[in-house]
Amino acid sequence: MQTIASERDSAGPAPRRRSVAVRVGDVTIGGGAPVVVQSMTNTDTADVEATARQVAALAHAGSELVRITVDRDEAAAAVPRIKERLGALGVEVPLIGDFHYIGHKLLADHPPCAEALDKYRINPGNVGFKHKKDRQFAAIIELALKYRKPVRIGANWGSLDQDLLTRLMDDNARAAAPLDARAVTREAMVQSALLSATRAEELGLGRDRIVLSAKVSAVQDLIAVYAELGRRSDYALHLGLTEAGMGTKGIVASAASIAVLLQAGIGDTIRISLTPEPGGDRTREVQVAQELLQTMGLRAFVPLVAACPGCGRTTSTTFQELAADVQDFIRARMPEWKRRYAGVEALSVAVMGCIVNGPGESKHADIGISLPGTGEQPVAPVFVDGKKVATLRGATLTEDFKAMVEAYVANRFGLARPDAAE
Ligand code: SF4
Repeated sequence: MQTIASERDSAGPAPRRRSVAVRVGDVTIGGGAPVVVQSMTNTDTADVEATARQVAALAHAGSELVRITVDRDEAAAAVPRIKERLGALGVEVPLIGDFHYIGHKLLADHPPCAEALDKYRINPGNVGFKHKKDRQFAAIIELALKYRKPVRIGANWGSLDQDLLTRLMDDNARAAAPLDARAVTREAMVQSALLSATRAEELGLGRDRIVLSAKVSAVQDLIAVYAELGRRSDYALHLGLTEAGMGTKGIVASAASIAVLLQAGIGDTIRISLTPEPGGDRTREVQVAQELLQTMGLRAFVPLVAACPGCGRTTSTTFQELAADVQDFIRARMPEWKRRYAGVEALSVAVMGCIVNGPGESKHADIGISLPGTGEQPVAPVFVDGKKVATLRGATLTEDFKAMVEAYVANRFGLARPDAAE
């Protein structure tokens, strides 16, 4: 990875690795398409209403593909009804079925489920065991061919193909210069995904119907595994750190690993696997994925608000309240702005705490405001496209600034989509 980075002399990610494009419903993964954000439900799929509502929430948050677990007959039977319910809610997001152990049977026994899903995800480590493995893997691929669906072949550190791992460990033990066990395990992950993809191709599934993943739970292992997968194949790659964990740990570990790969041009779709807090919002993983892609400059979803961290110069709550208010305002206005104003995602807004960096940072944003710091009445210059255009003060300062943001958006982006409905 260091080699890839050091060979470049300009800022920005390396050119995207060439991968074969895969269509999943109306969404394209790979082939140079923008990196796709996906997520997964944690409802019981057999509960049609709860699952449809969570899929809809994830889709509304910006998930472009949503995976649901299909673990038993009741779940498989619910899939077409979930699709129907989503249609009634006006949600078109492609659905991916996640299968383990009995996917071949569920897909064969529930044709409407096989038809309703837009992609199947299988794990080569638990598609079947011993002599059943090849037969059951082939059965799923044949069903994918029958229903013309793509398949993600997703190896996972926690359920790695043990026969393959044992064979590689034995070979390694006999080698003149054996690798450490962790390196052999990484190689088993890579081989598990690649050998299964080769087998799927032998069975007739085109490369344009195959997505690969090889998820592990440690940042450095994940980077090493995907660097190898990227080097040895041109399959579209799904990135994700498995068992990333809760809260900030999960976010940091996921972002650290996925960002390094994306910066090297590796990765066609991402999922941030966060363990939700009890009662927490499942859509957070979508927000984190979007923010990761946007802060790296790879995609734009929501206007970014640059805010300084605050310090001893901002001991009142005025600054925090203004920053939070502006952020909430932009998120709340986005559904309508997106409908009316093409390109509004690229808007940048700055909310700064004092005169030290405030005016300078505000000038770099499309529209920015800088408070004066502690101990003074809030008197805040506003900068638009780098020029000071107003000074806001008094109790209506926040509302006045939001009105200026609204006017800026209408002026700058309003002509871009003249056909938008009022
Ligand atoms: S801009 Fe001012 S308030 Fe914000 S962190 Fe810098 S010095 Fe502190």
